[in-house]
Formats: sequence, C-alpha cells, structure tokens
Amino acid sequence: MPLYLFNTLGRELQEFKPLEPGKVGFYGCGPTVYNYAHIGNLRAYVTHDILVRSLRRLGYQVTHVMNLTDVGHLSGDSDTGEDKMVKSAEERGKSVLEIASYYTDAFFKDTERLNIIRPTVVCKATEHISDMIALIERIEQRGYTYRAGGNLYFDITKFPTYGELARLKLEDLKAGARIDVDENKRNPHDFALWFTKSKFENQALTWDSPWGRGYPGWHIECSAMSMKYLGEQFDIHAGGIDHIPIHHTNEIAQSEAATGKKWVNYWVHNEFLVLDKGKMSKSSGNFLTLQSLIDAGYDPLDYRYFLLGGHYRSQLQFSFEALDSARNSRKALVDRLFFLADKCSDLPEAWKEGEFISEKAKSYQEAFNRAIAEDLSTPRALAELWGLIRDTELEPAEALRIAFDMDLVLGLGLRELLQAPRAEQQLDSETVKEIEALITERSAAKKAKNYQRADEIRNMLKERGILLEDTPQGTTWRLIL
Ligand code: AMP
Ligand code: ZN
Repeated sequence: MPLYLFNTLGRELQEFKPLEPGKVGFYGCGPTVYNYAHIGNLRAYVTHDILVRSLRRLGYQVTHVMNLTDVGHLSGDSDTGEDKMVKSAEERGKSVLEIASYYTDAFFKDTERLNIIRPTVVCKATEHISDMIALIERIEQRGYTYRAGGNLYFDITKFPTYGELARLKLEDLKAGARIDVDENKRNPHDFALWFTKSKFENQALTWDSPWGRGYPGWHIECSAMSMKYLGEQFDIHAGGIDHIPIHHTNEIAQSEAATGKKWVNYWVHNEFLVLDKGKMSKSSGNFLTLQSLIDAGYDPLDYRYFLLGGHYRSQLQFSFEALDSARNSRKALVDRLFFLADKCSDLPEAWKEGEFISEKAKSYQEAFNRAIAEDLSTPRALAELWGLIRDTELEPAEALRIAFDMDLVLGLGLRELLQAPRAEQQLDSETVKEIEALITERSAAKKAKNYQRADEIRNMLKERGILLEDTPQGTTWRLIL
C-alpha cells in the first residue's frame, strides 16, 4: 500500500517515493538543549516517531537522524536576541556544556518514557563545527554570501527560489517589514552563517574559521549534519510548523546553494500543541513538562495516547480534562486486552506469526493500514484498533495478534504491558495490606479534616510509585507504570 504524505513543499498529499528503493533518509530537527522539552516539543518527536514506525512497518529501512543544538540558537530564530544556551548556563551558574549534557539526558529520558524509538544517529552541533565550516565554504565559493560587521551572511537575493517552502515572495521580502535589528544585513531576511563579532561578550564556545574566530549560525548545523549522515539529497525532513518560514526556509536556501541540487523531497510539519492560556514557550517559562504530568499522576503513555487522538496536522489543545479522558481510554484499552488475553487458552499463541486470521479481522488491519497510509491518520488508526478489540465475532487470539501489529505504529507498548505481570500482582500481600491500611488511615484523616496527614500519606505512597485515585466509590490505588 503506498504511503501518502502531506508535503509542505507543494501543499498537497503526495505519494511517497524514496530516492533509493526500500530505503528512507529522514532528518528531524532536534531540541535546543538549554531547558527541558515541553509537552509541545514532545508532540513533534512523537510525530517523527509515528512517521518512522510507519515507514519501518511498510518495510523501509529508515535512517533517522536527529541533531542536538548546543550552540548558536538565539532566542529569535532570525538571529535576534540572546544565545539560548549561554543565557541558560548563566542563569544556572553552570557551563554551557554542563547545561547541554544535563538537558540532553533529560530529553532522552522523556522520549524513552514516551516509547519514542531512539534515532539511528543523534548528532551534536558542537561536534560538527568542521562540517559546518566546510559547507559554508562551499556556499561562499558559489557566491551566495557577504561579510558585514565581521559576520558572514547568506544573501537571499542570490537564491531566486528563496521562501518557496513558506510561499514567501522574494519581492515582498525585499520591501519587507523590518523583522530584524541587525544593521549588517542587506536584507532583513538574510541570515548569519558564521558570527565572529559576537553580540555577547561572554560567548562561551568559539572556533577558528576562515572568517575569524567565532561560532556558526543556527540553521547551518541542520544542513551540515543531515548531509553528512544522509547524503546531499535525502527523502524526508520534519519539524514543527514554526520552522517553515525561517529555519527550514534558510536550511533549503543554504543547502541548495552549496550543492546546486534539490535537497529534500518531502517536508512534514506538525501543528502546535496549545494550552488554554495560549502558546507554550520554553523561554517564557510558561510550559508543562512530561515530568509535571507524571507528578500529577499520569503515565507518560497517557500523554502519547492523547497525542495520537489528534492528527499531526491539526492544532491540538491541551487540557487536563482531555488528558484524563485519554488516560481512561488507555486504561480501558489495556483492560480489554487483558480480557482478551484471559480468553486465550494458550496466550503465547496470540502473537504467533502466520496462523489463520479471519477475513473480518484482516479488514480491521487493512482499514488501519489505509488510515496510516493516508498521511498518518492516528485518530482513524486508533478507531480501527478499538473496533478490532471490541468485535466479539473475532477470536481473541487473532484480535490480539493484530492489535500488536497495529501497535508497531502506535507505540503504546501493548505487547509489553500484556507480557509483564499485571502491576498489582507484582506486590506481595504484605505490601498490599500495608497500602490498604494507609488508605483507610487517609480516609479517616480526611473525615477529621486533617488534610495535612491525608496529603502526607498520598505523597508517601506516590514516592513509592503507588498512585491513589479518589472515586465516588472510594479510594483506589494503582502502580505508576
Ligand atoms: P526547539 O527545541 O524549540 O527547537 O523545538 C523543538 C521542536 O518542537 C521543533 O520541531 C518545534 O517546531 C517543535 N515545537 C515547538 N513548540 C511546539 C508546540 N507547542 N507544539 C508542537 N511542536 C512544537
Ligand atoms: Zn533544523
């Protein structure tokens, strides 16, 4: 079944055809590691994950490359503002590299908890400065640059298709609204390839280059690293929609200026996750992390399930009510799978390959495949999973087998959940008794309006990985998975 992706370049659904049969080169812009990823950022990485999983399930050998930005990203994408890494390091009294290392670890902890498969290649900007310099030299040799105020800039007027991805018109850009305060630029949309005259006296990391000691602009890292690991032309590039007008537009201009060839065939952009209060941004501090959801008692996979409920190209509004409903659905899903598993006489048979599967069961699988093939429609895919596991005409074993196959794309860890003993069963009876006694004590404390003790008990249990849930029928407990 062919895969159709909505290509931002052209703004239409296009059949995916790889450059090399059976193989896919995919680059997704990674995080700037100056702070925790917020749950909006994580939407971007779940989207990349769904794309990679879908391609692999279709049989492609995918090389997934992701960068880590640890230098050169200013608070404004168009070379304005302060250096994000330096600012964060100063505020926290640490070195830039310490900050990068801490938030890189935090990032991968989050992605792991969300069942995001680690990219094939993860590359740090600071470890690829010589690749960036070599690429900038090629751009310079082909006449696309100018020096001003000690920095090296890309001249967008030399690149006639500049802005095609974002449907910007070069004419309008020339007349352009002032988006930038850098007086060195001939055109406000020109962008820095290399800074030598740092705007910041305390620039932490600098390197020698043909243009003097300094550091790279933000955009060049993605061009240099993607080409290094995927070649000068590759299949798919992804990121959030905020990257269309500046970051990805500039990446295309400089890459194609350097090689004289088309760079990337398909551009996939995820819409934003928004809060009721509006935009979530790392720099404003107004953001939720995955850890904050866990602290509020959610499982990271509840958040993944919530994300799957929206199409990646639709804006998604986050609220705790919506997350509650995702949690309830995921719980019902897992319960239903356990119910089916209980009905299988020999559970391992459920995941044996190549056995008879009814036409009806296959029809769910095919509908699921169609949903994914039509621009990764996870909401429709989830609906097919539900249809499958609720269909009482199917053999439990075949339903389970297909559910696990669907989960290769959804990444909800269903097989693992079912194969692991139920969390409650892992506790010995003494511990269970102890938990129940504490719950009784907490209920009494609440009745006596001793909320301090009640909270103390809740927190004490939470620290041990046990979550209390107050329901109209009383307090229940479960292990935080
Ligand atoms: P950053 O670390 O700021 O470079 O962002 C990492 C990724 O998250 C990029 O692909 C952004 O486009 C994406 N992104 C940023 N904010 C959001 C959001 N609220 N919702 C979805 N994606 C976002
Ligand atoms: Zn990038």
